[in-house]
Amino acid sequence: MDSYASQLDALSRKGNLRKLPEMEPQGLYLVRDGQEMLNLSSNDYLGLADNVALKSEFLQTLDPRKCRFSSTSSRLLTGNYPVYTRLEERLAQLYGAESSLVFNSGYHANSGILPAVTDSRSLILADKLVHASIVDGIGLSKARCIRYRHNNYEQLERLVAENAGEYDRLFVVTESIFSMDGDESDLPRLVALKHRYPNLYLYLDEAHAFGVRGPHGLGCAEEHGVIGDIDFLVGTFGKAAASVGAFVICSEEMKQYLVNTMRTLIFTTALPPINLEWTLFIVNKICDMTERREHLARIGRRVREVLNPLNGGILSSSHIIPYVLGESERAVDVALRLQREGFYLLPVRPPTVPAGTSRLRISLTAECSEADIERLVSTIQQIQSSL
Ligand code: PMP
Repeated sequence: MDSYASQLDALSRKGNLRKLPEMEPQGLYLVRDGQEMLNLSSNDYLGLADNVALKSEFLQTLDPRKCRFSSTSSRLLTGNYPVYTRLEERLAQLYGAESSLVFNSGYHANSGILPAVTDSRSLILADKLVHASIVDGIGLSKARCIRYRHNNYEQLERLVAENAGEYDRLFVVTESIFSMDGDESDLPRLVALKHRYPNLYLYLDEAHAFGVRGPHGLGCAEEHGVIGDIDFLVGTFGKAAASVGAFVICSEEMKQYLVNTMRTLIFTTALPPINLEWTLFIVNKICDMTERREHLARIGRRVREVLNPLNGGILSSSHIIPYVLGESERAVDVALRLQREGFYLLPVRPPTVPAGTSRLRISLTAECSEADIERLVSTIQQIQSSL
């Protein structure tokens, strides 16, 4: 049996050792070892996390006698503060849906919903690149699971046709914008597939699209006009919404079922009411942030123009744009070079991404100016020509 120390050494030799970085985010920038860098590694896509005007406006709405920094209990005991109901009703209303349910994080949502709604008579068909939180949810469920090749709908349709009659329920699980490649699933095609099979459920993780896509920022399902066709539409508040937590848009019956069966909802302390108030405050603002969304789309197009041709077939179509470098050592080296030039980018390595596709993950924020983006692309072009 290898000691823990020798396993850490092995990770280090391959350039795959992870460390908690010491740094201090400051608005659009981040300071590390005294150096100020443009932060291109957060998920603050709309640039709201450090918006002083929004924070001040929110703080003025608070009454210290009423606001609470902890719920001190699970939702099923005394943690279900009225702000949960206000937030869930607002989300359901925005999505034109029957119901919604809020969770402590996207990790809680994804690791909890699938084990709750599946059993040994279920089949999960999940895209090869779904997030680790979904993979863990699959691991905890009693269902059989087949992973289909990334965005390969011929394979998915074949698997559905072969298995629909063999299982009580089929769950097709995917993300709308993929967290590491920044590409997208084909929602109209998935919805068409769902309508051919009465026992097929669509589970869509919109973590990277909520706030960013669609006329009101509700995500890619809103953009494609298919919200009503998604059985489990998951969004998170820790990214564009600059808060914490997550939600699912679903039927009222499904909400009640989850409240009764979902372990990551039942057996954890509810979110602090003050965070829920901030989430509701932001959700109400986000619908009208069209200019920020348009600016983000514009700068995304510019960065993709330069990087997509370098990425060996990985084609981002969003504000998440990888710079694929191959071996981990190379990704680490290029990350350091870009950091020296004032861009805070981090290497993403196996097991987060497949071996041989280590990369930098550029996640743009609407706070970046066109000038910031021009400097970024010209620095990348210089580095690329020296590789
Ligand atoms: N889903 C996806 C696609 C994600 O990328 C992430 C986090 N990066 C999560 C879910 C987890 O969300 P949270 O950070 O709220 O736990």
